[in-house]
Amino acid sequence: MKWTKTLVAALVCTTALSAPALAAKDDSANVIAPEAHYTEEKAPANYNPAAKSSTRVNSIVPDAANPIIVLDPGHGGTDPGAVGNGIRESDVVLDIATRSKNYMAANYPATLYMTRTADTTVSLESRASFANSKGANIFVSYHINSYTSSTANGLEVYQYPGSTSSNQLSTNIYNKLKPYYSTLRGVKSAEFYVLKYTNMPASLGETGFISNATDATNLKSATFKQNLAVGYAQGMHVYWWGF
Ligand SMILES: [Zn+2]
Repeated sequence: MKWTKTLVAALVCTTALSAPALAAKDDSANVIAPEAHYTEEKAPANYNPAAKSSTRVNSIVPDAANPIIVLDPGHGGTDPGAVGNGIRESDVVLDIATRSKNYMAANYPATLYMTRTADTTVSLESRASFANSKGANIFVSYHINSYTSSTANGLEVYQYPGSTSSNQLSTNIYNKLKPYYSTLRGVKSAEFYVLKYTNMPASLGETGFISNATDATNLKSATFKQNLAVGYAQGMHVYWWGF
């Protein structure tokens, strides 16, 4: 009789211990996306903290002149970024950013550049240096999130900490992307390299988790990627032209 009680207790105990391992816990809410921070490469030679501070703290939308916009598909070449569920971040973001560029070229009077147009390796320093050399008014970096738990999912957009103009740009983009997500993780701040060392208002989008099956399925859809591309473009339009 005593042996039976011990056995039952052991079985209950084993079940209780193994349950958390079966259901992956999503504790990602306050985790910053796994992108390169400003400490990972040296600052570009044309980084101008003075110009940066004067433009980033300016909360007034610039005048009606046509903007110079640099679109930055993250990763590429030897760096695929996040990989999972049969897709690579570097491929997905190049597709979305190219769609954004094509949409804006057809619809907006803006001068447009991309930091890469193929699956090539581009350093962080080169990305920021390129935008600075073009005198860009807007810099937007395209990324896909990932996390150790496959349940983490949804949209987040990053601004440079404390920058009013970066916050405006990021919020405008976020608001235009929101309709395509059921999980809204908000506008967050991080000192990512491309946000810190670009001399102009900058934003970095994390449009879903490659580690989540549903997000990844969406990111394989041309229609979904086109919606995101237009959302990014419309967010930039609101930031610059005010509507
Ligand atoms: Zn990335």
